Amino acid sequence: MTQTARENVEEIADARTETFESIDPRTGEVVGEHPIHDAETVGNRVAAAREAQAAWDELGFSGRKQHLDSWRKLLVKRLDELAGVICAETGKPLEDAKLELVLVIDHLAWATSNAEKVLKRRKVSPGVLMSNQTATVEYLPYGVVGVIGPWNYPAFTPMGSIAYALAAGNAVVFKPSELTPGVGEWLVKSFAEAVPEHPVFQLVTGYGSTGAALCKAGVNKVAFTGSTATGKRVMASCAENLIPVLVECGGKDALIVDADADLAAAADAAVWGAMSNAGQTCIGVERVYVHEAVADRYLKMVSDRAAKLRPGGEPGADFGPITMASQVDIIRGHIDDAINRGGRAVIGGRDSVRPPFVEPVVIADAPEDSTAITEETFGPTLVVQRVKDVDEAITLANATNYGLGGTVFSRARGMELARRLRSGMVAVNSVIAFAGVPALPFGGVGDSGFGRIHGADGLREFARPQSVTRTKFTIPLNPMSFARPKGTVSTVVKLIKVLRGR
Ligand code: NAD
Repeated sequence: MTQTARENVEEIADARTETFESIDPRTGEVVGEHPIHDAETVGNRVAAAREAQAAWDELGFSGRKQHLDSWRKLLVKRLDELAGVICAETGKPLEDAKLELVLVIDHLAWATSNAEKVLKRRKVSPGVLMSNQTATVEYLPYGVVGVIGPWNYPAFTPMGSIAYALAAGNAVVFKPSELTPGVGEWLVKSFAEAVPEHPVFQLVTGYGSTGAALCKAGVNKVAFTGSTATGKRVMASCAENLIPVLVECGGKDALIVDADADLAAAADAAVWGAMSNAGQTCIGVERVYVHEAVADRYLKMVSDRAAKLRPGGEPGADFGPITMASQVDIIRGHIDDAINRGGRAVIGGRDSVRPPFVEPVVIADAPEDSTAITEETFGPTLVVQRVKDVDEAITLANATNYGLGGTVFSRARGMELARRLRSGMVAVNSVIAFAGVPALPFGGVGDSGFGRIHGADGLREFARPQSVTRTKFTIPLNPMSFARPKGTVSTVVKLIKVLRGR
């Protein structure tokens, strides 16, 4: 079936497909209606992507770059329009949505500009034993990559996979979150507008079942971003067919404040890291461990800043609503647990939860086993814990199964403390900065997942290394032949003893 014929059939099928609504969480208003794609449609989209991928691969790096550059320019031109869709589906303030897109565009530019350098065939040393060989490695595209995304940064997060996978020569089938299908649709349509001749970026929409179908639709790799619980399900499903997975999950990031830190900067960073996007940031600051020598002063600085913030749906609001309604109960539960068990509500408290908004909450000295410390809260809440020294801070920061990002404020020991954090990324004397550096790999350890988006590692994540040796000249003593002369292996053993035995 030709591409156009397939699209026509799917459009007719879409007309019969059940749909779901996309809701503006600020108002409850319906802002879109999207199909719930079943396994058959998902399979068709994967097949269409696969058909288009071969020509995309053949374009080579410079051919793909031209097309991806056109798409990037279109994204720049229509940034405000896409920012509007992000606002409508997540409720976040317009400026935050624009900032998200600034990062998207910069990452897309980096991926396309660096794909060739990182992935093209390169020579490696063949070593002494194989010196008659030329040895090379090249990173080839997997084929079709299934990308399953979350709603909290509905463009930035999935584009960390999409941009890098496309630049590496793959086709992508994208399943956006059921809370932000319009953002996914906008991205796919804009690509089709900029690159009409290569339908290598396809969309499927729906709930978890559509994502589950994508894992089983014959894709060559799945890049999942979302909660740890779903990540495990995705991995189990992909295991059945040995489909490789990239799993980017939740976090419980800590910020450490040393006694010599710039306290004002550390307070500013903690409040932004914890409360921007209403705390719905995988690499958001959820816990602070502050040296007791400066703890009182620091807590006051944090409180003063947090007290000024107001959530709302209007353009000037500091942050928006809780996008996913069911998260409100989790946030409330964490606040209750911390306060019921001895934590002090310094700013806000139980009454701060006014769905769909949650006002800033700062809690001090909560028990280390309270859920506000042990589980991802994903709300505009912050727990500030005093510690006797930074060694205790590191121990407590690392006492979680998560290991996504982290922050350290220290004048003298920043790099040393960063290295001791069990996390995939650390910002020293700023917060979240690593996400804005396209050359830096992004990802976590433990319950935060594995694999990397962004940077050279992010490009390689979407490519399979292929090693090739080519014989330059034949050697008289070839041990890998049944015709090898007697004594060949003992000569090789003698050689290795001389070379590697010392
Ligand atoms: P989620 O796990 O509920 O859903 C993520 C996606 O998975 C959605 O598209 C959903 O439809 C799909 N899905 C659900 N069940 C599935 C199944 N069985 N098989 C396949 N797909 C399925 O997560 P969410 O609420 O959308 O996102 C919030 C979470 O994402 C938070 O935990 C946050 O920390 C995390 N997150 C992580 C990163 C990161 O880079 N590490 C970035 C952003 C968000």
